[in-house]
Amino acid sequence: MPRHLVCLTFDFDAMSGFISRGMTTPTPISRGEFGVVASGRLLALMKRYDIPTTWFIPGHTLETYPKACEAVIAAGHEVGHHGWTHQPPATLTREQEEAGLVRANAVIKKMTGKGARGYRSPSWDLSAHTIDLLLKHGFVYDTSMMGDDYTPYFARQGDVIELEKPAVLGKESPLVELPISWSLDDYPHFEFVRTAQTILPGLQNAQGVLQNWVDDFTYMKRIMDWGIITYTFHPFVIGRGHRMMILERLIDTVRLAGGEFVTMEQAAQAFLERRKT
Ligand SMILES: [Zn+2]
Repeated sequence: MPRHLVCLTFDFDAMSGFISRGMTTPTPISRGEFGVVASGRLLALMKRYDIPTTWFIPGHTLETYPKACEAVIAAGHEVGHHGWTHQPPATLTREQEEAGLVRANAVIKKMTGKGARGYRSPSWDLSAHTIDLLLKHGFVYDTSMMGDDYTPYFARQGDVIELEKPAVLGKESPLVELPISWSLDDYPHFEFVRTAQTILPGLQNAQGVLQNWVDDFTYMKRIMDWGIITYTFHPFVIGRGHRMMILERLIDTVRLAGGEFVTMEQAAQAFLERRKT
């Protein structure tokens, strides 16, 4: 029987993303803080539609805004790991990365009763150690890579990548990879970011972005009997009025077309079970 699974995921960075980029003055901090206002809106919307979702919450947000995070947990949504700070693992030593993994997981365990099953790296940039560390610490899935679109796969360990040589691909690990894409992430489409080095223009017309997002679902239905599509949102980004409006339309359209909303943990489980049969 065809199944088209849809994961709505929220990276609840609040101010942590700005802090990790050194943007600690009051205005960028307030920009992240808006995510807390938006998280309440998003929870209300998900309740109205009765949709289970997954929230990747940095330890910094869990400990800065425990009430807002408890509301996510009380509403039955999955909490995934998103670092303690919002620094991408690729910029950390193995020791720093493991310390953040353990520190945030302890908070998640305290608040939800169990450690995170899934991990999403801040800014989507894994280190050479991440897969080892996730397996060591009992994770079931990662969702930070882009090697497929609608089909999960097993993350590899030990790739050897050198400029002047063919890539040597490592062995598959038991860690499920639920692939993501920048094109299905609200951040690059909508956020205007100005730093000394770069300008990310963002601020795109929401209707155009909605069309892209719907078409990716439609294409999955066209070519796949079974597949998963993962949308990534940030409360401080998607929470603005015109974007909340397209989120509603996305849900309406995908649901009408037979999309089945699940958490990422459920999606990983469905993938593993399907492989057995
Ligand atoms: Zn993030």
